[in-house]
This record gives sequence, structure tokens and C-alpha cells, in this order.
Amino acid sequence: MKERIYTIPVSEAFREDCECPMCILEKRLEDDALKYTLGPSMMEPDSRIETNKKGFCNLHFTKLYNTQENRLPLGLVIDTHLMEQNEILRKMYEKEESNLKKEMETGTLEHIKKGFKNKDASVNFVNCMIDKLNELEKSCTICEKISFNMGKFTDVILYLFFKEPDFKELFVSKKGFCLPHLKMLLEGSLKHLNRKQRSEFVMTLMSMELIHLDRIKEEVNWFTLKFDYKNQDAPWKNSRDAIPRSIEKICGPCDLNR
Ligand SMILES: [Zn+2]
Ligand SMILES: [Zn+2]
Repeated sequence: MKERIYTIPVSEAFREDCECPMCILEKRLEDDALKYTLGPSMMEPDSRIETNKKGFCNLHFTKLYNTQENRLPLGLVIDTHLMEQNEILRKMYEKEESNLKKEMETGTLEHIKKGFKNKDASVNFVNCMIDKLNELEKSCTICEKISFNMGKFTDVILYLFFKEPDFKELFVSKKGFCLPHLKMLLEGSLKHLNRKQRSEFVMTLMSMELIHLDRIKEEVNWFTLKFDYKNQDAPWKNSRDAIPRSIEKICGPCDLNR
């Protein structure tokens, strides 16, 4: 049996009426990670080492700030993150400063005489800095935690699909998945299933997904037709919130002002 800490949330999320049960799982993971960062994480030396090193992505810094609570813990996390990162950037620069100075003072003619043997110090330095800044921009303690746990949830979903007939029935009764989580399930099928299981799973998944992508397309279409004066008094059917649901179907979890 798979770990219960993963099977229980999976069964709960699949019991909710929604466009994507995996979005429910991901939102919960994100909420927990945001709360943890501004709470218990502060006292955990290991997680401070991690936040000092990786920091957060733009989205998660924004969400941490917008919770508008626990400003002190957020300040402390940023304080030590900057302390560590500023030091790395300073060392990178100081190591190359004299070479940059030499390059600046070398005349063009002298440079040509040297035969372009060595790459310009400035080019080397700029490339290193770009790599470091790309790494910092991409790394995020919260994204990594979510991605690790979503991997576990995907494994559990595929496991339950083949081991628990009740879960399989529940799975098939859902409205499909958002596109990022459809991709996650397909990736999971390559990793966790054998040939026979994979073809069965992919056929089940894709046939339900295509039905529900068409359904949501029709709901958006009816939303647009409702603006035609001829349809003014026609019922909204299921289309009143078709726009946010369609965006979530395409993009996965997002913070839309609904
Ligand atoms: Zn989703
Ligand atoms: Zn992030």
C-alpha cells in the first residue's frame, strides 16, 4: 500500500466537483508551503539553508508578501537570503575585477596583436553572471516542494487507478484535467506503468480529456453567444463562469479574481 499521507488527499480531491482534481492538490500544497515558510520554517536550520540558497520565484515572493501577515518572518528570510547571495555575487565580481580593468586599458591594436587567443574577460564574466542570475531566478523553495509532492501524488493516482476499482470508477467520472496536469499524468505513465498498463491508462485518460475539452469549449462558445441580443433571454446554462474555468483548464492553478 502506498503511503497514506499521499492516498488520503488524493481520494479527497477526486471526490470534489471541479475541472481538475490535481489543481486542488497543488493549491493545497502551495497553501501549506506558504504557511510553512512564514511559520515553522523559521525555526528549522535546514529550511533556512534552503531558502538562503534558492530563495523564491517571482510568483511565490508575491504570494508570500500578499498574505499580508507575518512580515517579520518574511523579512528575516529575505535578510539572510540576500546576505548569502550578495556575498556570492560580490566574490564573482571581485575575482574578475582586475581582468576587466586590464581589458578596459588594453588598446584595440594591442588586442588584435594578441590574436583573439583568449575570450574577452568581460564576455566570460557576463556569461557567468547570466548563468548565476538565471539559476537564482528559476530556483524556488516552494516550487520545488510542490513539484516533489505532485510527483508523489501522480505516482499514487496511477497506483490507485490499477489497484482500487472504486478509485478507477471515480477517476473516469471526473471532468478531465487541466493541460499541465494532463502532461504530468502522461509523464507519470512513462515512469510508473508497464506497456500494457500505459496503453490502457492513456486511452482512458485521453478519451475523457477530449470530451471535457470539447465541453468547456462549448461552454465558452455559449458565453460569447449570450452577448448576442437574440440570446439575451436564453438561459446561461453552465456558461456564466466558463471564462475562468477555461483559463484554469488551459493553464492549471491560477489566482483569478472570481
Ligand atoms: Zn490541474
Ligand atoms: Zn515558486
